[in-house]
Amino acid sequence: MSTPVTSQVIDVQNYFGGAWHKSSASEYSNVTNPATGEVIGRTPLSSKTEVDTVVQAAAAAFPAWRRTPAGERIQYLFRLKNLLEEHIDELSKLITLENGKTFAEAKAEWRRGIENVEVACGIPIMMQGYNLEDITPGVDETLIRQPLGVVAAIVPFNFPAMIPFWFLPYAIACGNTFVLKPSERVPLTVRRTMELIEKTGIPKGVVNIVNGGREVVDALCDHPTVRAISFVGSTPVAKHVYQRSAAAGKRMQCQGGAKNHVIVLPDADMDLAKQIISDSAFGCAGQRCLAVSVAVTIGEAQKTFRDAIAEAASSIKVGFGLDTGVQMGPVISPASKQRIEGLIAQGVSDGAKPVVDGRNPKLANYEGGNFLKPTVLDGVPASSSLADTEIFGPVLSLIHADTIDEAIEFIRKSPYGNQASLFTTSGAAARKFRYEAPAGNIGINIGVAAPMAYFPFSGWKESFFGILHAQGKDAVEFYTESKIVVERWSRQETRKF
Ligand code: NAD
Repeated sequence: MSTPVTSQVIDVQNYFGGAWHKSSASEYSNVTNPATGEVIGRTPLSSKTEVDTVVQAAAAAFPAWRRTPAGERIQYLFRLKNLLEEHIDELSKLITLENGKTFAEAKAEWRRGIENVEVACGIPIMMQGYNLEDITPGVDETLIRQPLGVVAAIVPFNFPAMIPFWFLPYAIACGNTFVLKPSERVPLTVRRTMELIEKTGIPKGVVNIVNGGREVVDALCDHPTVRAISFVGSTPVAKHVYQRSAAAGKRMQCQGGAKNHVIVLPDADMDLAKQIISDSAFGCAGQRCLAVSVAVTIGEAQKTFRDAIAEAASSIKVGFGLDTGVQMGPVISPASKQRIEGLIAQGVSDGAKPVVDGRNPKLANYEGGNFLKPTVLDGVPASSSLADTEIFGPVLSLIHADTIDEAIEFIRKSPYGNQASLFTTSGAAARKFRYEAPAGNIGINIGVAAPMAYFPFSGWKESFFGILHAQGKDAVEFYTESKIVVERWSRQETRKF
């Protein structure tokens, strides 16, 4: 049964200087419920001038925020954690409405977001520097960490809550002021979250939101007052932001797209592999940057795994994520559905066999939704564009290899390096894989090797541009500048008081 959405279309505003402001944009982008096609909001495509106003508000708040002791800054985060916990159901429902993932997936996303708030509450310890007395007699040296100033984050549609929280808590806990550019496709979760941030009593201008698309992104990259940019999205845009921000002298961390491989050895626990790989490939309708997209089977796993995954894929209940029993929602847009179906057709014409074909499903009452069912393609030729292209949909390609070395070679050839997984009961194979697999997040009998908030979200090759990653200790280093102080006080020490 369909759940009513919103009684009105929400006109999204920008937030800066402690208040909501209607954008002067002449163009808006529609926010739609991907399960119904219904318009539920409108995102203003703000201008370069509006970006400047927002950045100036953040810059004005920086001196006082920077002087606020770290122990006091984190009190706002403790309050925010409690508010997010209190409102988690309402916030999760919003994610389902604008992004399409199921309510359970949305709630799990919020748990990951909240975890980052919890970790950033440790900033009074994490931000500490270090020192050494007597680097030469009577001279001491100290490293201290200081905030950068105004920092910005540009985020994608697939995690409307968690990805902003890879950045926001650390940036402000370190004493920076923050500008967020949400995805124009899913701005409603951030909008509601900002209302809760406001309730913490955080000083005006510490957290700001500017909505929009490409013009806003470019204006943030170019703005001389913005000291650092955190970006998450597709590889071409990640590269663009990396290059453009570098030209403006900023520090950046840009996370891009992915094509994740899992290797299934014949000694794997096939029941476990089937369930976990099915969750990884089809959870969130395959719209996760850590979703497994290619399974490389070795030896007799070619048949045992193919049969098991086909059964798991066929049993997944697809529908509107707020309806009872639904396990997989729609993809984000009609264009995305069309692109994914086109890629499946390409794979089939290149010689792959659709063991489970999820194209064009008919869902009663949801004719306007962007639905696909899970799809499993067997025997995808390595030469097919499907083997290399990021699909970002519920499609799993099966490829067969004779040895683990041959399978690792597939991963090596991939332009991406976000995640690679292995299913086995052999410790020696696991160790070899961990040692050799060229990806930044490794899963051993794990389908989505997502790091906890106290570890960095690594990504290699075209999945990441920069050095310091999101989350954990990397985030603290990214959002602070180190300063060295060398001191000599030896004359005063020898004086008699
Ligand atoms: P996207 O690249 O289309 O958009 C990301 C952000 O960039 C949005 O805020 C958007 O407004 C902006 N943008 C889009 N086109 C732009 C352009 N031409 N110039 C300047 N800015 C532009 O990505 P998406 O479709 O929202 O998200 C899906 C992608 O994100 C996938 O490729 C996925 O793998 C990737 N992703 C990566 C990670 C990771 O950790 N590596 C995590 C989540 C998502």
